[in-house]
Amino acid sequence: MSQPLEELREKLDGINQQLLVLLNERAEVVRRIGEIKEKQGVPKFDPVREREMLEELAKRNPGPFKNAEVKHIFKEIFKASLNLQEEDHKRQLLVSRKKQPDNTVIDVNGTLIGGAAQVMIAGPCSVESYEQLRAVASALKDAGIKIMRGGAFKPRTSPYDFQGLGEEGLKMLKEVADEFGLSIISEIVHPGHIALAEKYIDIIQIGARNMQNFELLKAAGEASIPVLLKRGIAATLEEFIHAAEYIVVGGNSNVMLIERGIRTYEKWTRNTLDISAVPLLKQETHLPVLVDVSHSTGRKDILLPCAKAALAAGADGVMVEVHPEPQVALSDAAQQIDIPQFQTLWDGIKRSGLFTE
Ligand code: PEP
Ligand code: MN
Repeated sequence: MSQPLEELREKLDGINQQLLVLLNERAEVVRRIGEIKEKQGVPKFDPVREREMLEELAKRNPGPFKNAEVKHIFKEIFKASLNLQEEDHKRQLLVSRKKQPDNTVIDVNGTLIGGAAQVMIAGPCSVESYEQLRAVASALKDAGIKIMRGGAFKPRTSPYDFQGLGEEGLKMLKEVADEFGLSIISEIVHPGHIALAEKYIDIIQIGARNMQNFELLKAAGEASIPVLLKRGIAATLEEFIHAAEYIVVGGNSNVMLIERGIRTYEKWTRNTLDISAVPLLKQETHLPVLVDVSHSTGRKDILLPCAKAALAAGADGVMVEVHPEPQVALSDAAQQIDIPQFQTLWDGIKRSGLFTE
């Protein structure tokens, strides 16, 4: 009595083996198709072709499986194949950790970003005057902070708002940075600004509004200095990573990513700090990942817990806006902290034990 059951089980094992071989053979064919599509730049998922294949299978289905079941099984096979193609695509991205398992560590005048230590970047939203810059630079120097931020080209929502001092602002940044021994990060908004950036500053910032300004990304790919790329206001992590890929494939491998909050329906913060972006970007890419606590929250009162959350999640650094007199700041007055508030924040971060200098 048990003999036929054993036989049938053996037969089933044999069929499983055959299915396994066929499924993997199929996967190899799908992979080859994926490579051709990759070269042609056409999408991997082709819903029309998928429907045709499912209809053809239903037509030829001898049973006993019902057509709906056959379609369901094959849809799962199609989905697994598509995932395989996407995995292959990720492996091909230069920014992918699958391509380069080791962290990219960026050397900015001796300060390493993306290594064992974290970095603090602080400074005003906009460059306004020498006095303003010197007040911040002096406080940063006293705090042992090496990188100062300040915007000279300001992408503003309204054309009537302060647009920044332009090249004059970059010159001021350089002068003050040299005086206090700091490195400078500043935003540029146009491919034609790369040469200016190379002349005056140490790190190019590409702002949230320009994350998908592809001509700017390509130009940054040709720059000789590192780039801090901000996450777009409504960008997915995949879009963010692909934006970084533009810069790296252009020849500049010194790219850092910064989460600066995304737009949601929440009104108590200016944007929503997506803390999950930090471990995901660290996992998917080998690039340094930072968090801008000022633009993500738009507030002054929750900077310390947000900075600690960022560091606990694995961020390589934190950026914050500091202004000697935030109440009269020409941009982002509501979120910039003054120098004593910055010192309190900095003490809190250091005391948290999450920041390695
Ligand atoms: C900034 O850093 O001053 C800025 C404009 O940020 P974002 O591009 O993230 O809005
Ligand atoms: Mn700002």
